[in-house]
Amino acid sequence: MTVLVLGDQLAREVGPVADRDERLLLVESEAAGRRLPYHPHKLTAVYSAMRHFRDDLRAAGRTVEYRQAESLAAGLAAHFEAHPGDELVAMRPHAQGAENRLRDIVADAGGDLTLVPDERFVCSRDAFDAWVADEDEPLRHESFYRFLRRRTGYLMDGDDPVGGEWNYDADNRETPPADYDPPPPTQFPPDETTRAVQERVEATFDGGDWADPGPFCWPVTRADALSALDDFVANRLADFGTYQDAMLDDEWALSHSLLSVPLNLGLLRPAEVIEAAIAAYRAREDVPINSVEGFVRQVLGWREFVRHVYRRGMPDLADANRLDATAPLPDFYWTGDTEMACLADAVDGVRSRGYAHHIERLMLLSNFALLRGVAPSAINRWFHAAFVDAFHWVVTPNVVEMGQYAAGLFASKPYAASANYVEGMSDHCAGCRFDPDERTGADACPFNALYWDFLDRHEERLRSNPRVAALYGHLDRMDEDERAAIRERAASLKERS
Ligand code: FAD
Repeated sequence: MTVLVLGDQLAREVGPVADRDERLLLVESEAAGRRLPYHPHKLTAVYSAMRHFRDDLRAAGRTVEYRQAESLAAGLAAHFEAHPGDELVAMRPHAQGAENRLRDIVADAGGDLTLVPDERFVCSRDAFDAWVADEDEPLRHESFYRFLRRRTGYLMDGDDPVGGEWNYDADNRETPPADYDPPPPTQFPPDETTRAVQERVEATFDGGDWADPGPFCWPVTRADALSALDDFVANRLADFGTYQDAMLDDEWALSHSLLSVPLNLGLLRPAEVIEAAIAAYRAREDVPINSVEGFVRQVLGWREFVRHVYRRGMPDLADANRLDATAPLPDFYWTGDTEMACLADAVDGVRSRGYAHHIERLMLLSNFALLRGVAPSAINRWFHAAFVDAFHWVVTPNVVEMGQYAAGLFASKPYAASANYVEGMSDHCAGCRFDPDERTGADACPFNALYWDFLDRHEERLRSNPRVAALYGHLDRMDEDERAAIRERAASLKERS
């Protein structure tokens, strides 16, 4: 028997790697790296983390076979040639169709495969499905989050939430003072193993879309992942909540945790991350409830929620397009070549390090595509290729449903916003050539005309939505000339992007 460890399952504390003393197998598949024009830091992070995992487990006395192969199928074929009729055991993969593909590959190679649940997550399939049975659809994250808080006891005081409220989001929308200077996050410069991977990535994959990325900075070992967690909890957790939604020109990380990469690779488990934050809240006076609750909501609530929404919503979710959006993705998503200061800064961060924080993703990058009418599959493909933490199970529900309002699975309103939001939550507008206060005219911020045009176009669907209805009051108060000018400005912007 052999334990097969997939590239985003690099956990040694749980699952078959922990439970069984058998030989381990990892396959570094080149085909997997060619599926999309991935950011080189994404390829480097995955392959380097796999190689470090191999080395760490070998150092701990485990037998690890590591196969560099053209594809997973080729790697497994080579494995079964060396070990005819072997039985593989693996944690169930998340990506839609991956389970069946894996079963077929193993069967074709004459082996056996046993798949076991992925124990890294807090909420099992059965627990989620039992929760759904008592819920109305579309599902609501807040209800799931409270269910999971009660079930786990995280931030609970008996039957009540610690602090008296379930959700402190209203306290988490401050913009930092001008002299705000959060401690820079720990960076993890490439060691010898990572440098070898970088060379291979450069030589093997066409990184043409991602010329000149910045220095690689992501943790790729368990030890570095733990030190990233320590750094976040010690230095940035306290401010995490308050400035969670802010966007600043020269602060790419603010007080975000930057833990999605190690979490999604398996180097950290969500439970240990949540427990570290709660322990700091209990031990320290400087960590306010809105910060710890905000953080727990992201990891315990959103991350677990989207995982199951994906499982239940695929394959339809990936192709969902209920707003009938068909425009191609503007080139600036790849090049950063746009006069809009906010989007230029966000794309620049993505080009440099394959990262933008949540509000940049939702309210800039995704919002623009939503307003512009970009096909959800096109913007999803870009996010999947561009971000180091992107894996199909997590990127797709976030982009297609939360960002593009395309599927009707859980979003209660579209995350559509005008320049008013960007100006309120960021310092980008001050240095931008566009005017956030103008709706029409060549100098008006493109977010404005596109926003009102979006509401106008989708009036039939959105006017009856109680969370959006009030906005139609503003549209109703505009005279026909202004509405025509907005349509005209939006049309000319669409022609150019
Ligand atoms: P923090 O802001 O510090 O949050 C803490 C942790 O909470 C994150 O590390 C992450 O694990 C979890 N989390 C927070 N929000 C979500 C969410 N909505 N879904 C899942 N987990 C969440 N997250 C990914 O991991 N991969 C993606 O490809 C991805 N694509 C996204 C695309 C769009 C359009 C949007 C709106 C969100 C996306 N997210 C994705 C969710 C979220 O933006 C990132 O998890 C977060 O920005 C990662 O940075 P961080 O680790 O500093 O997070």
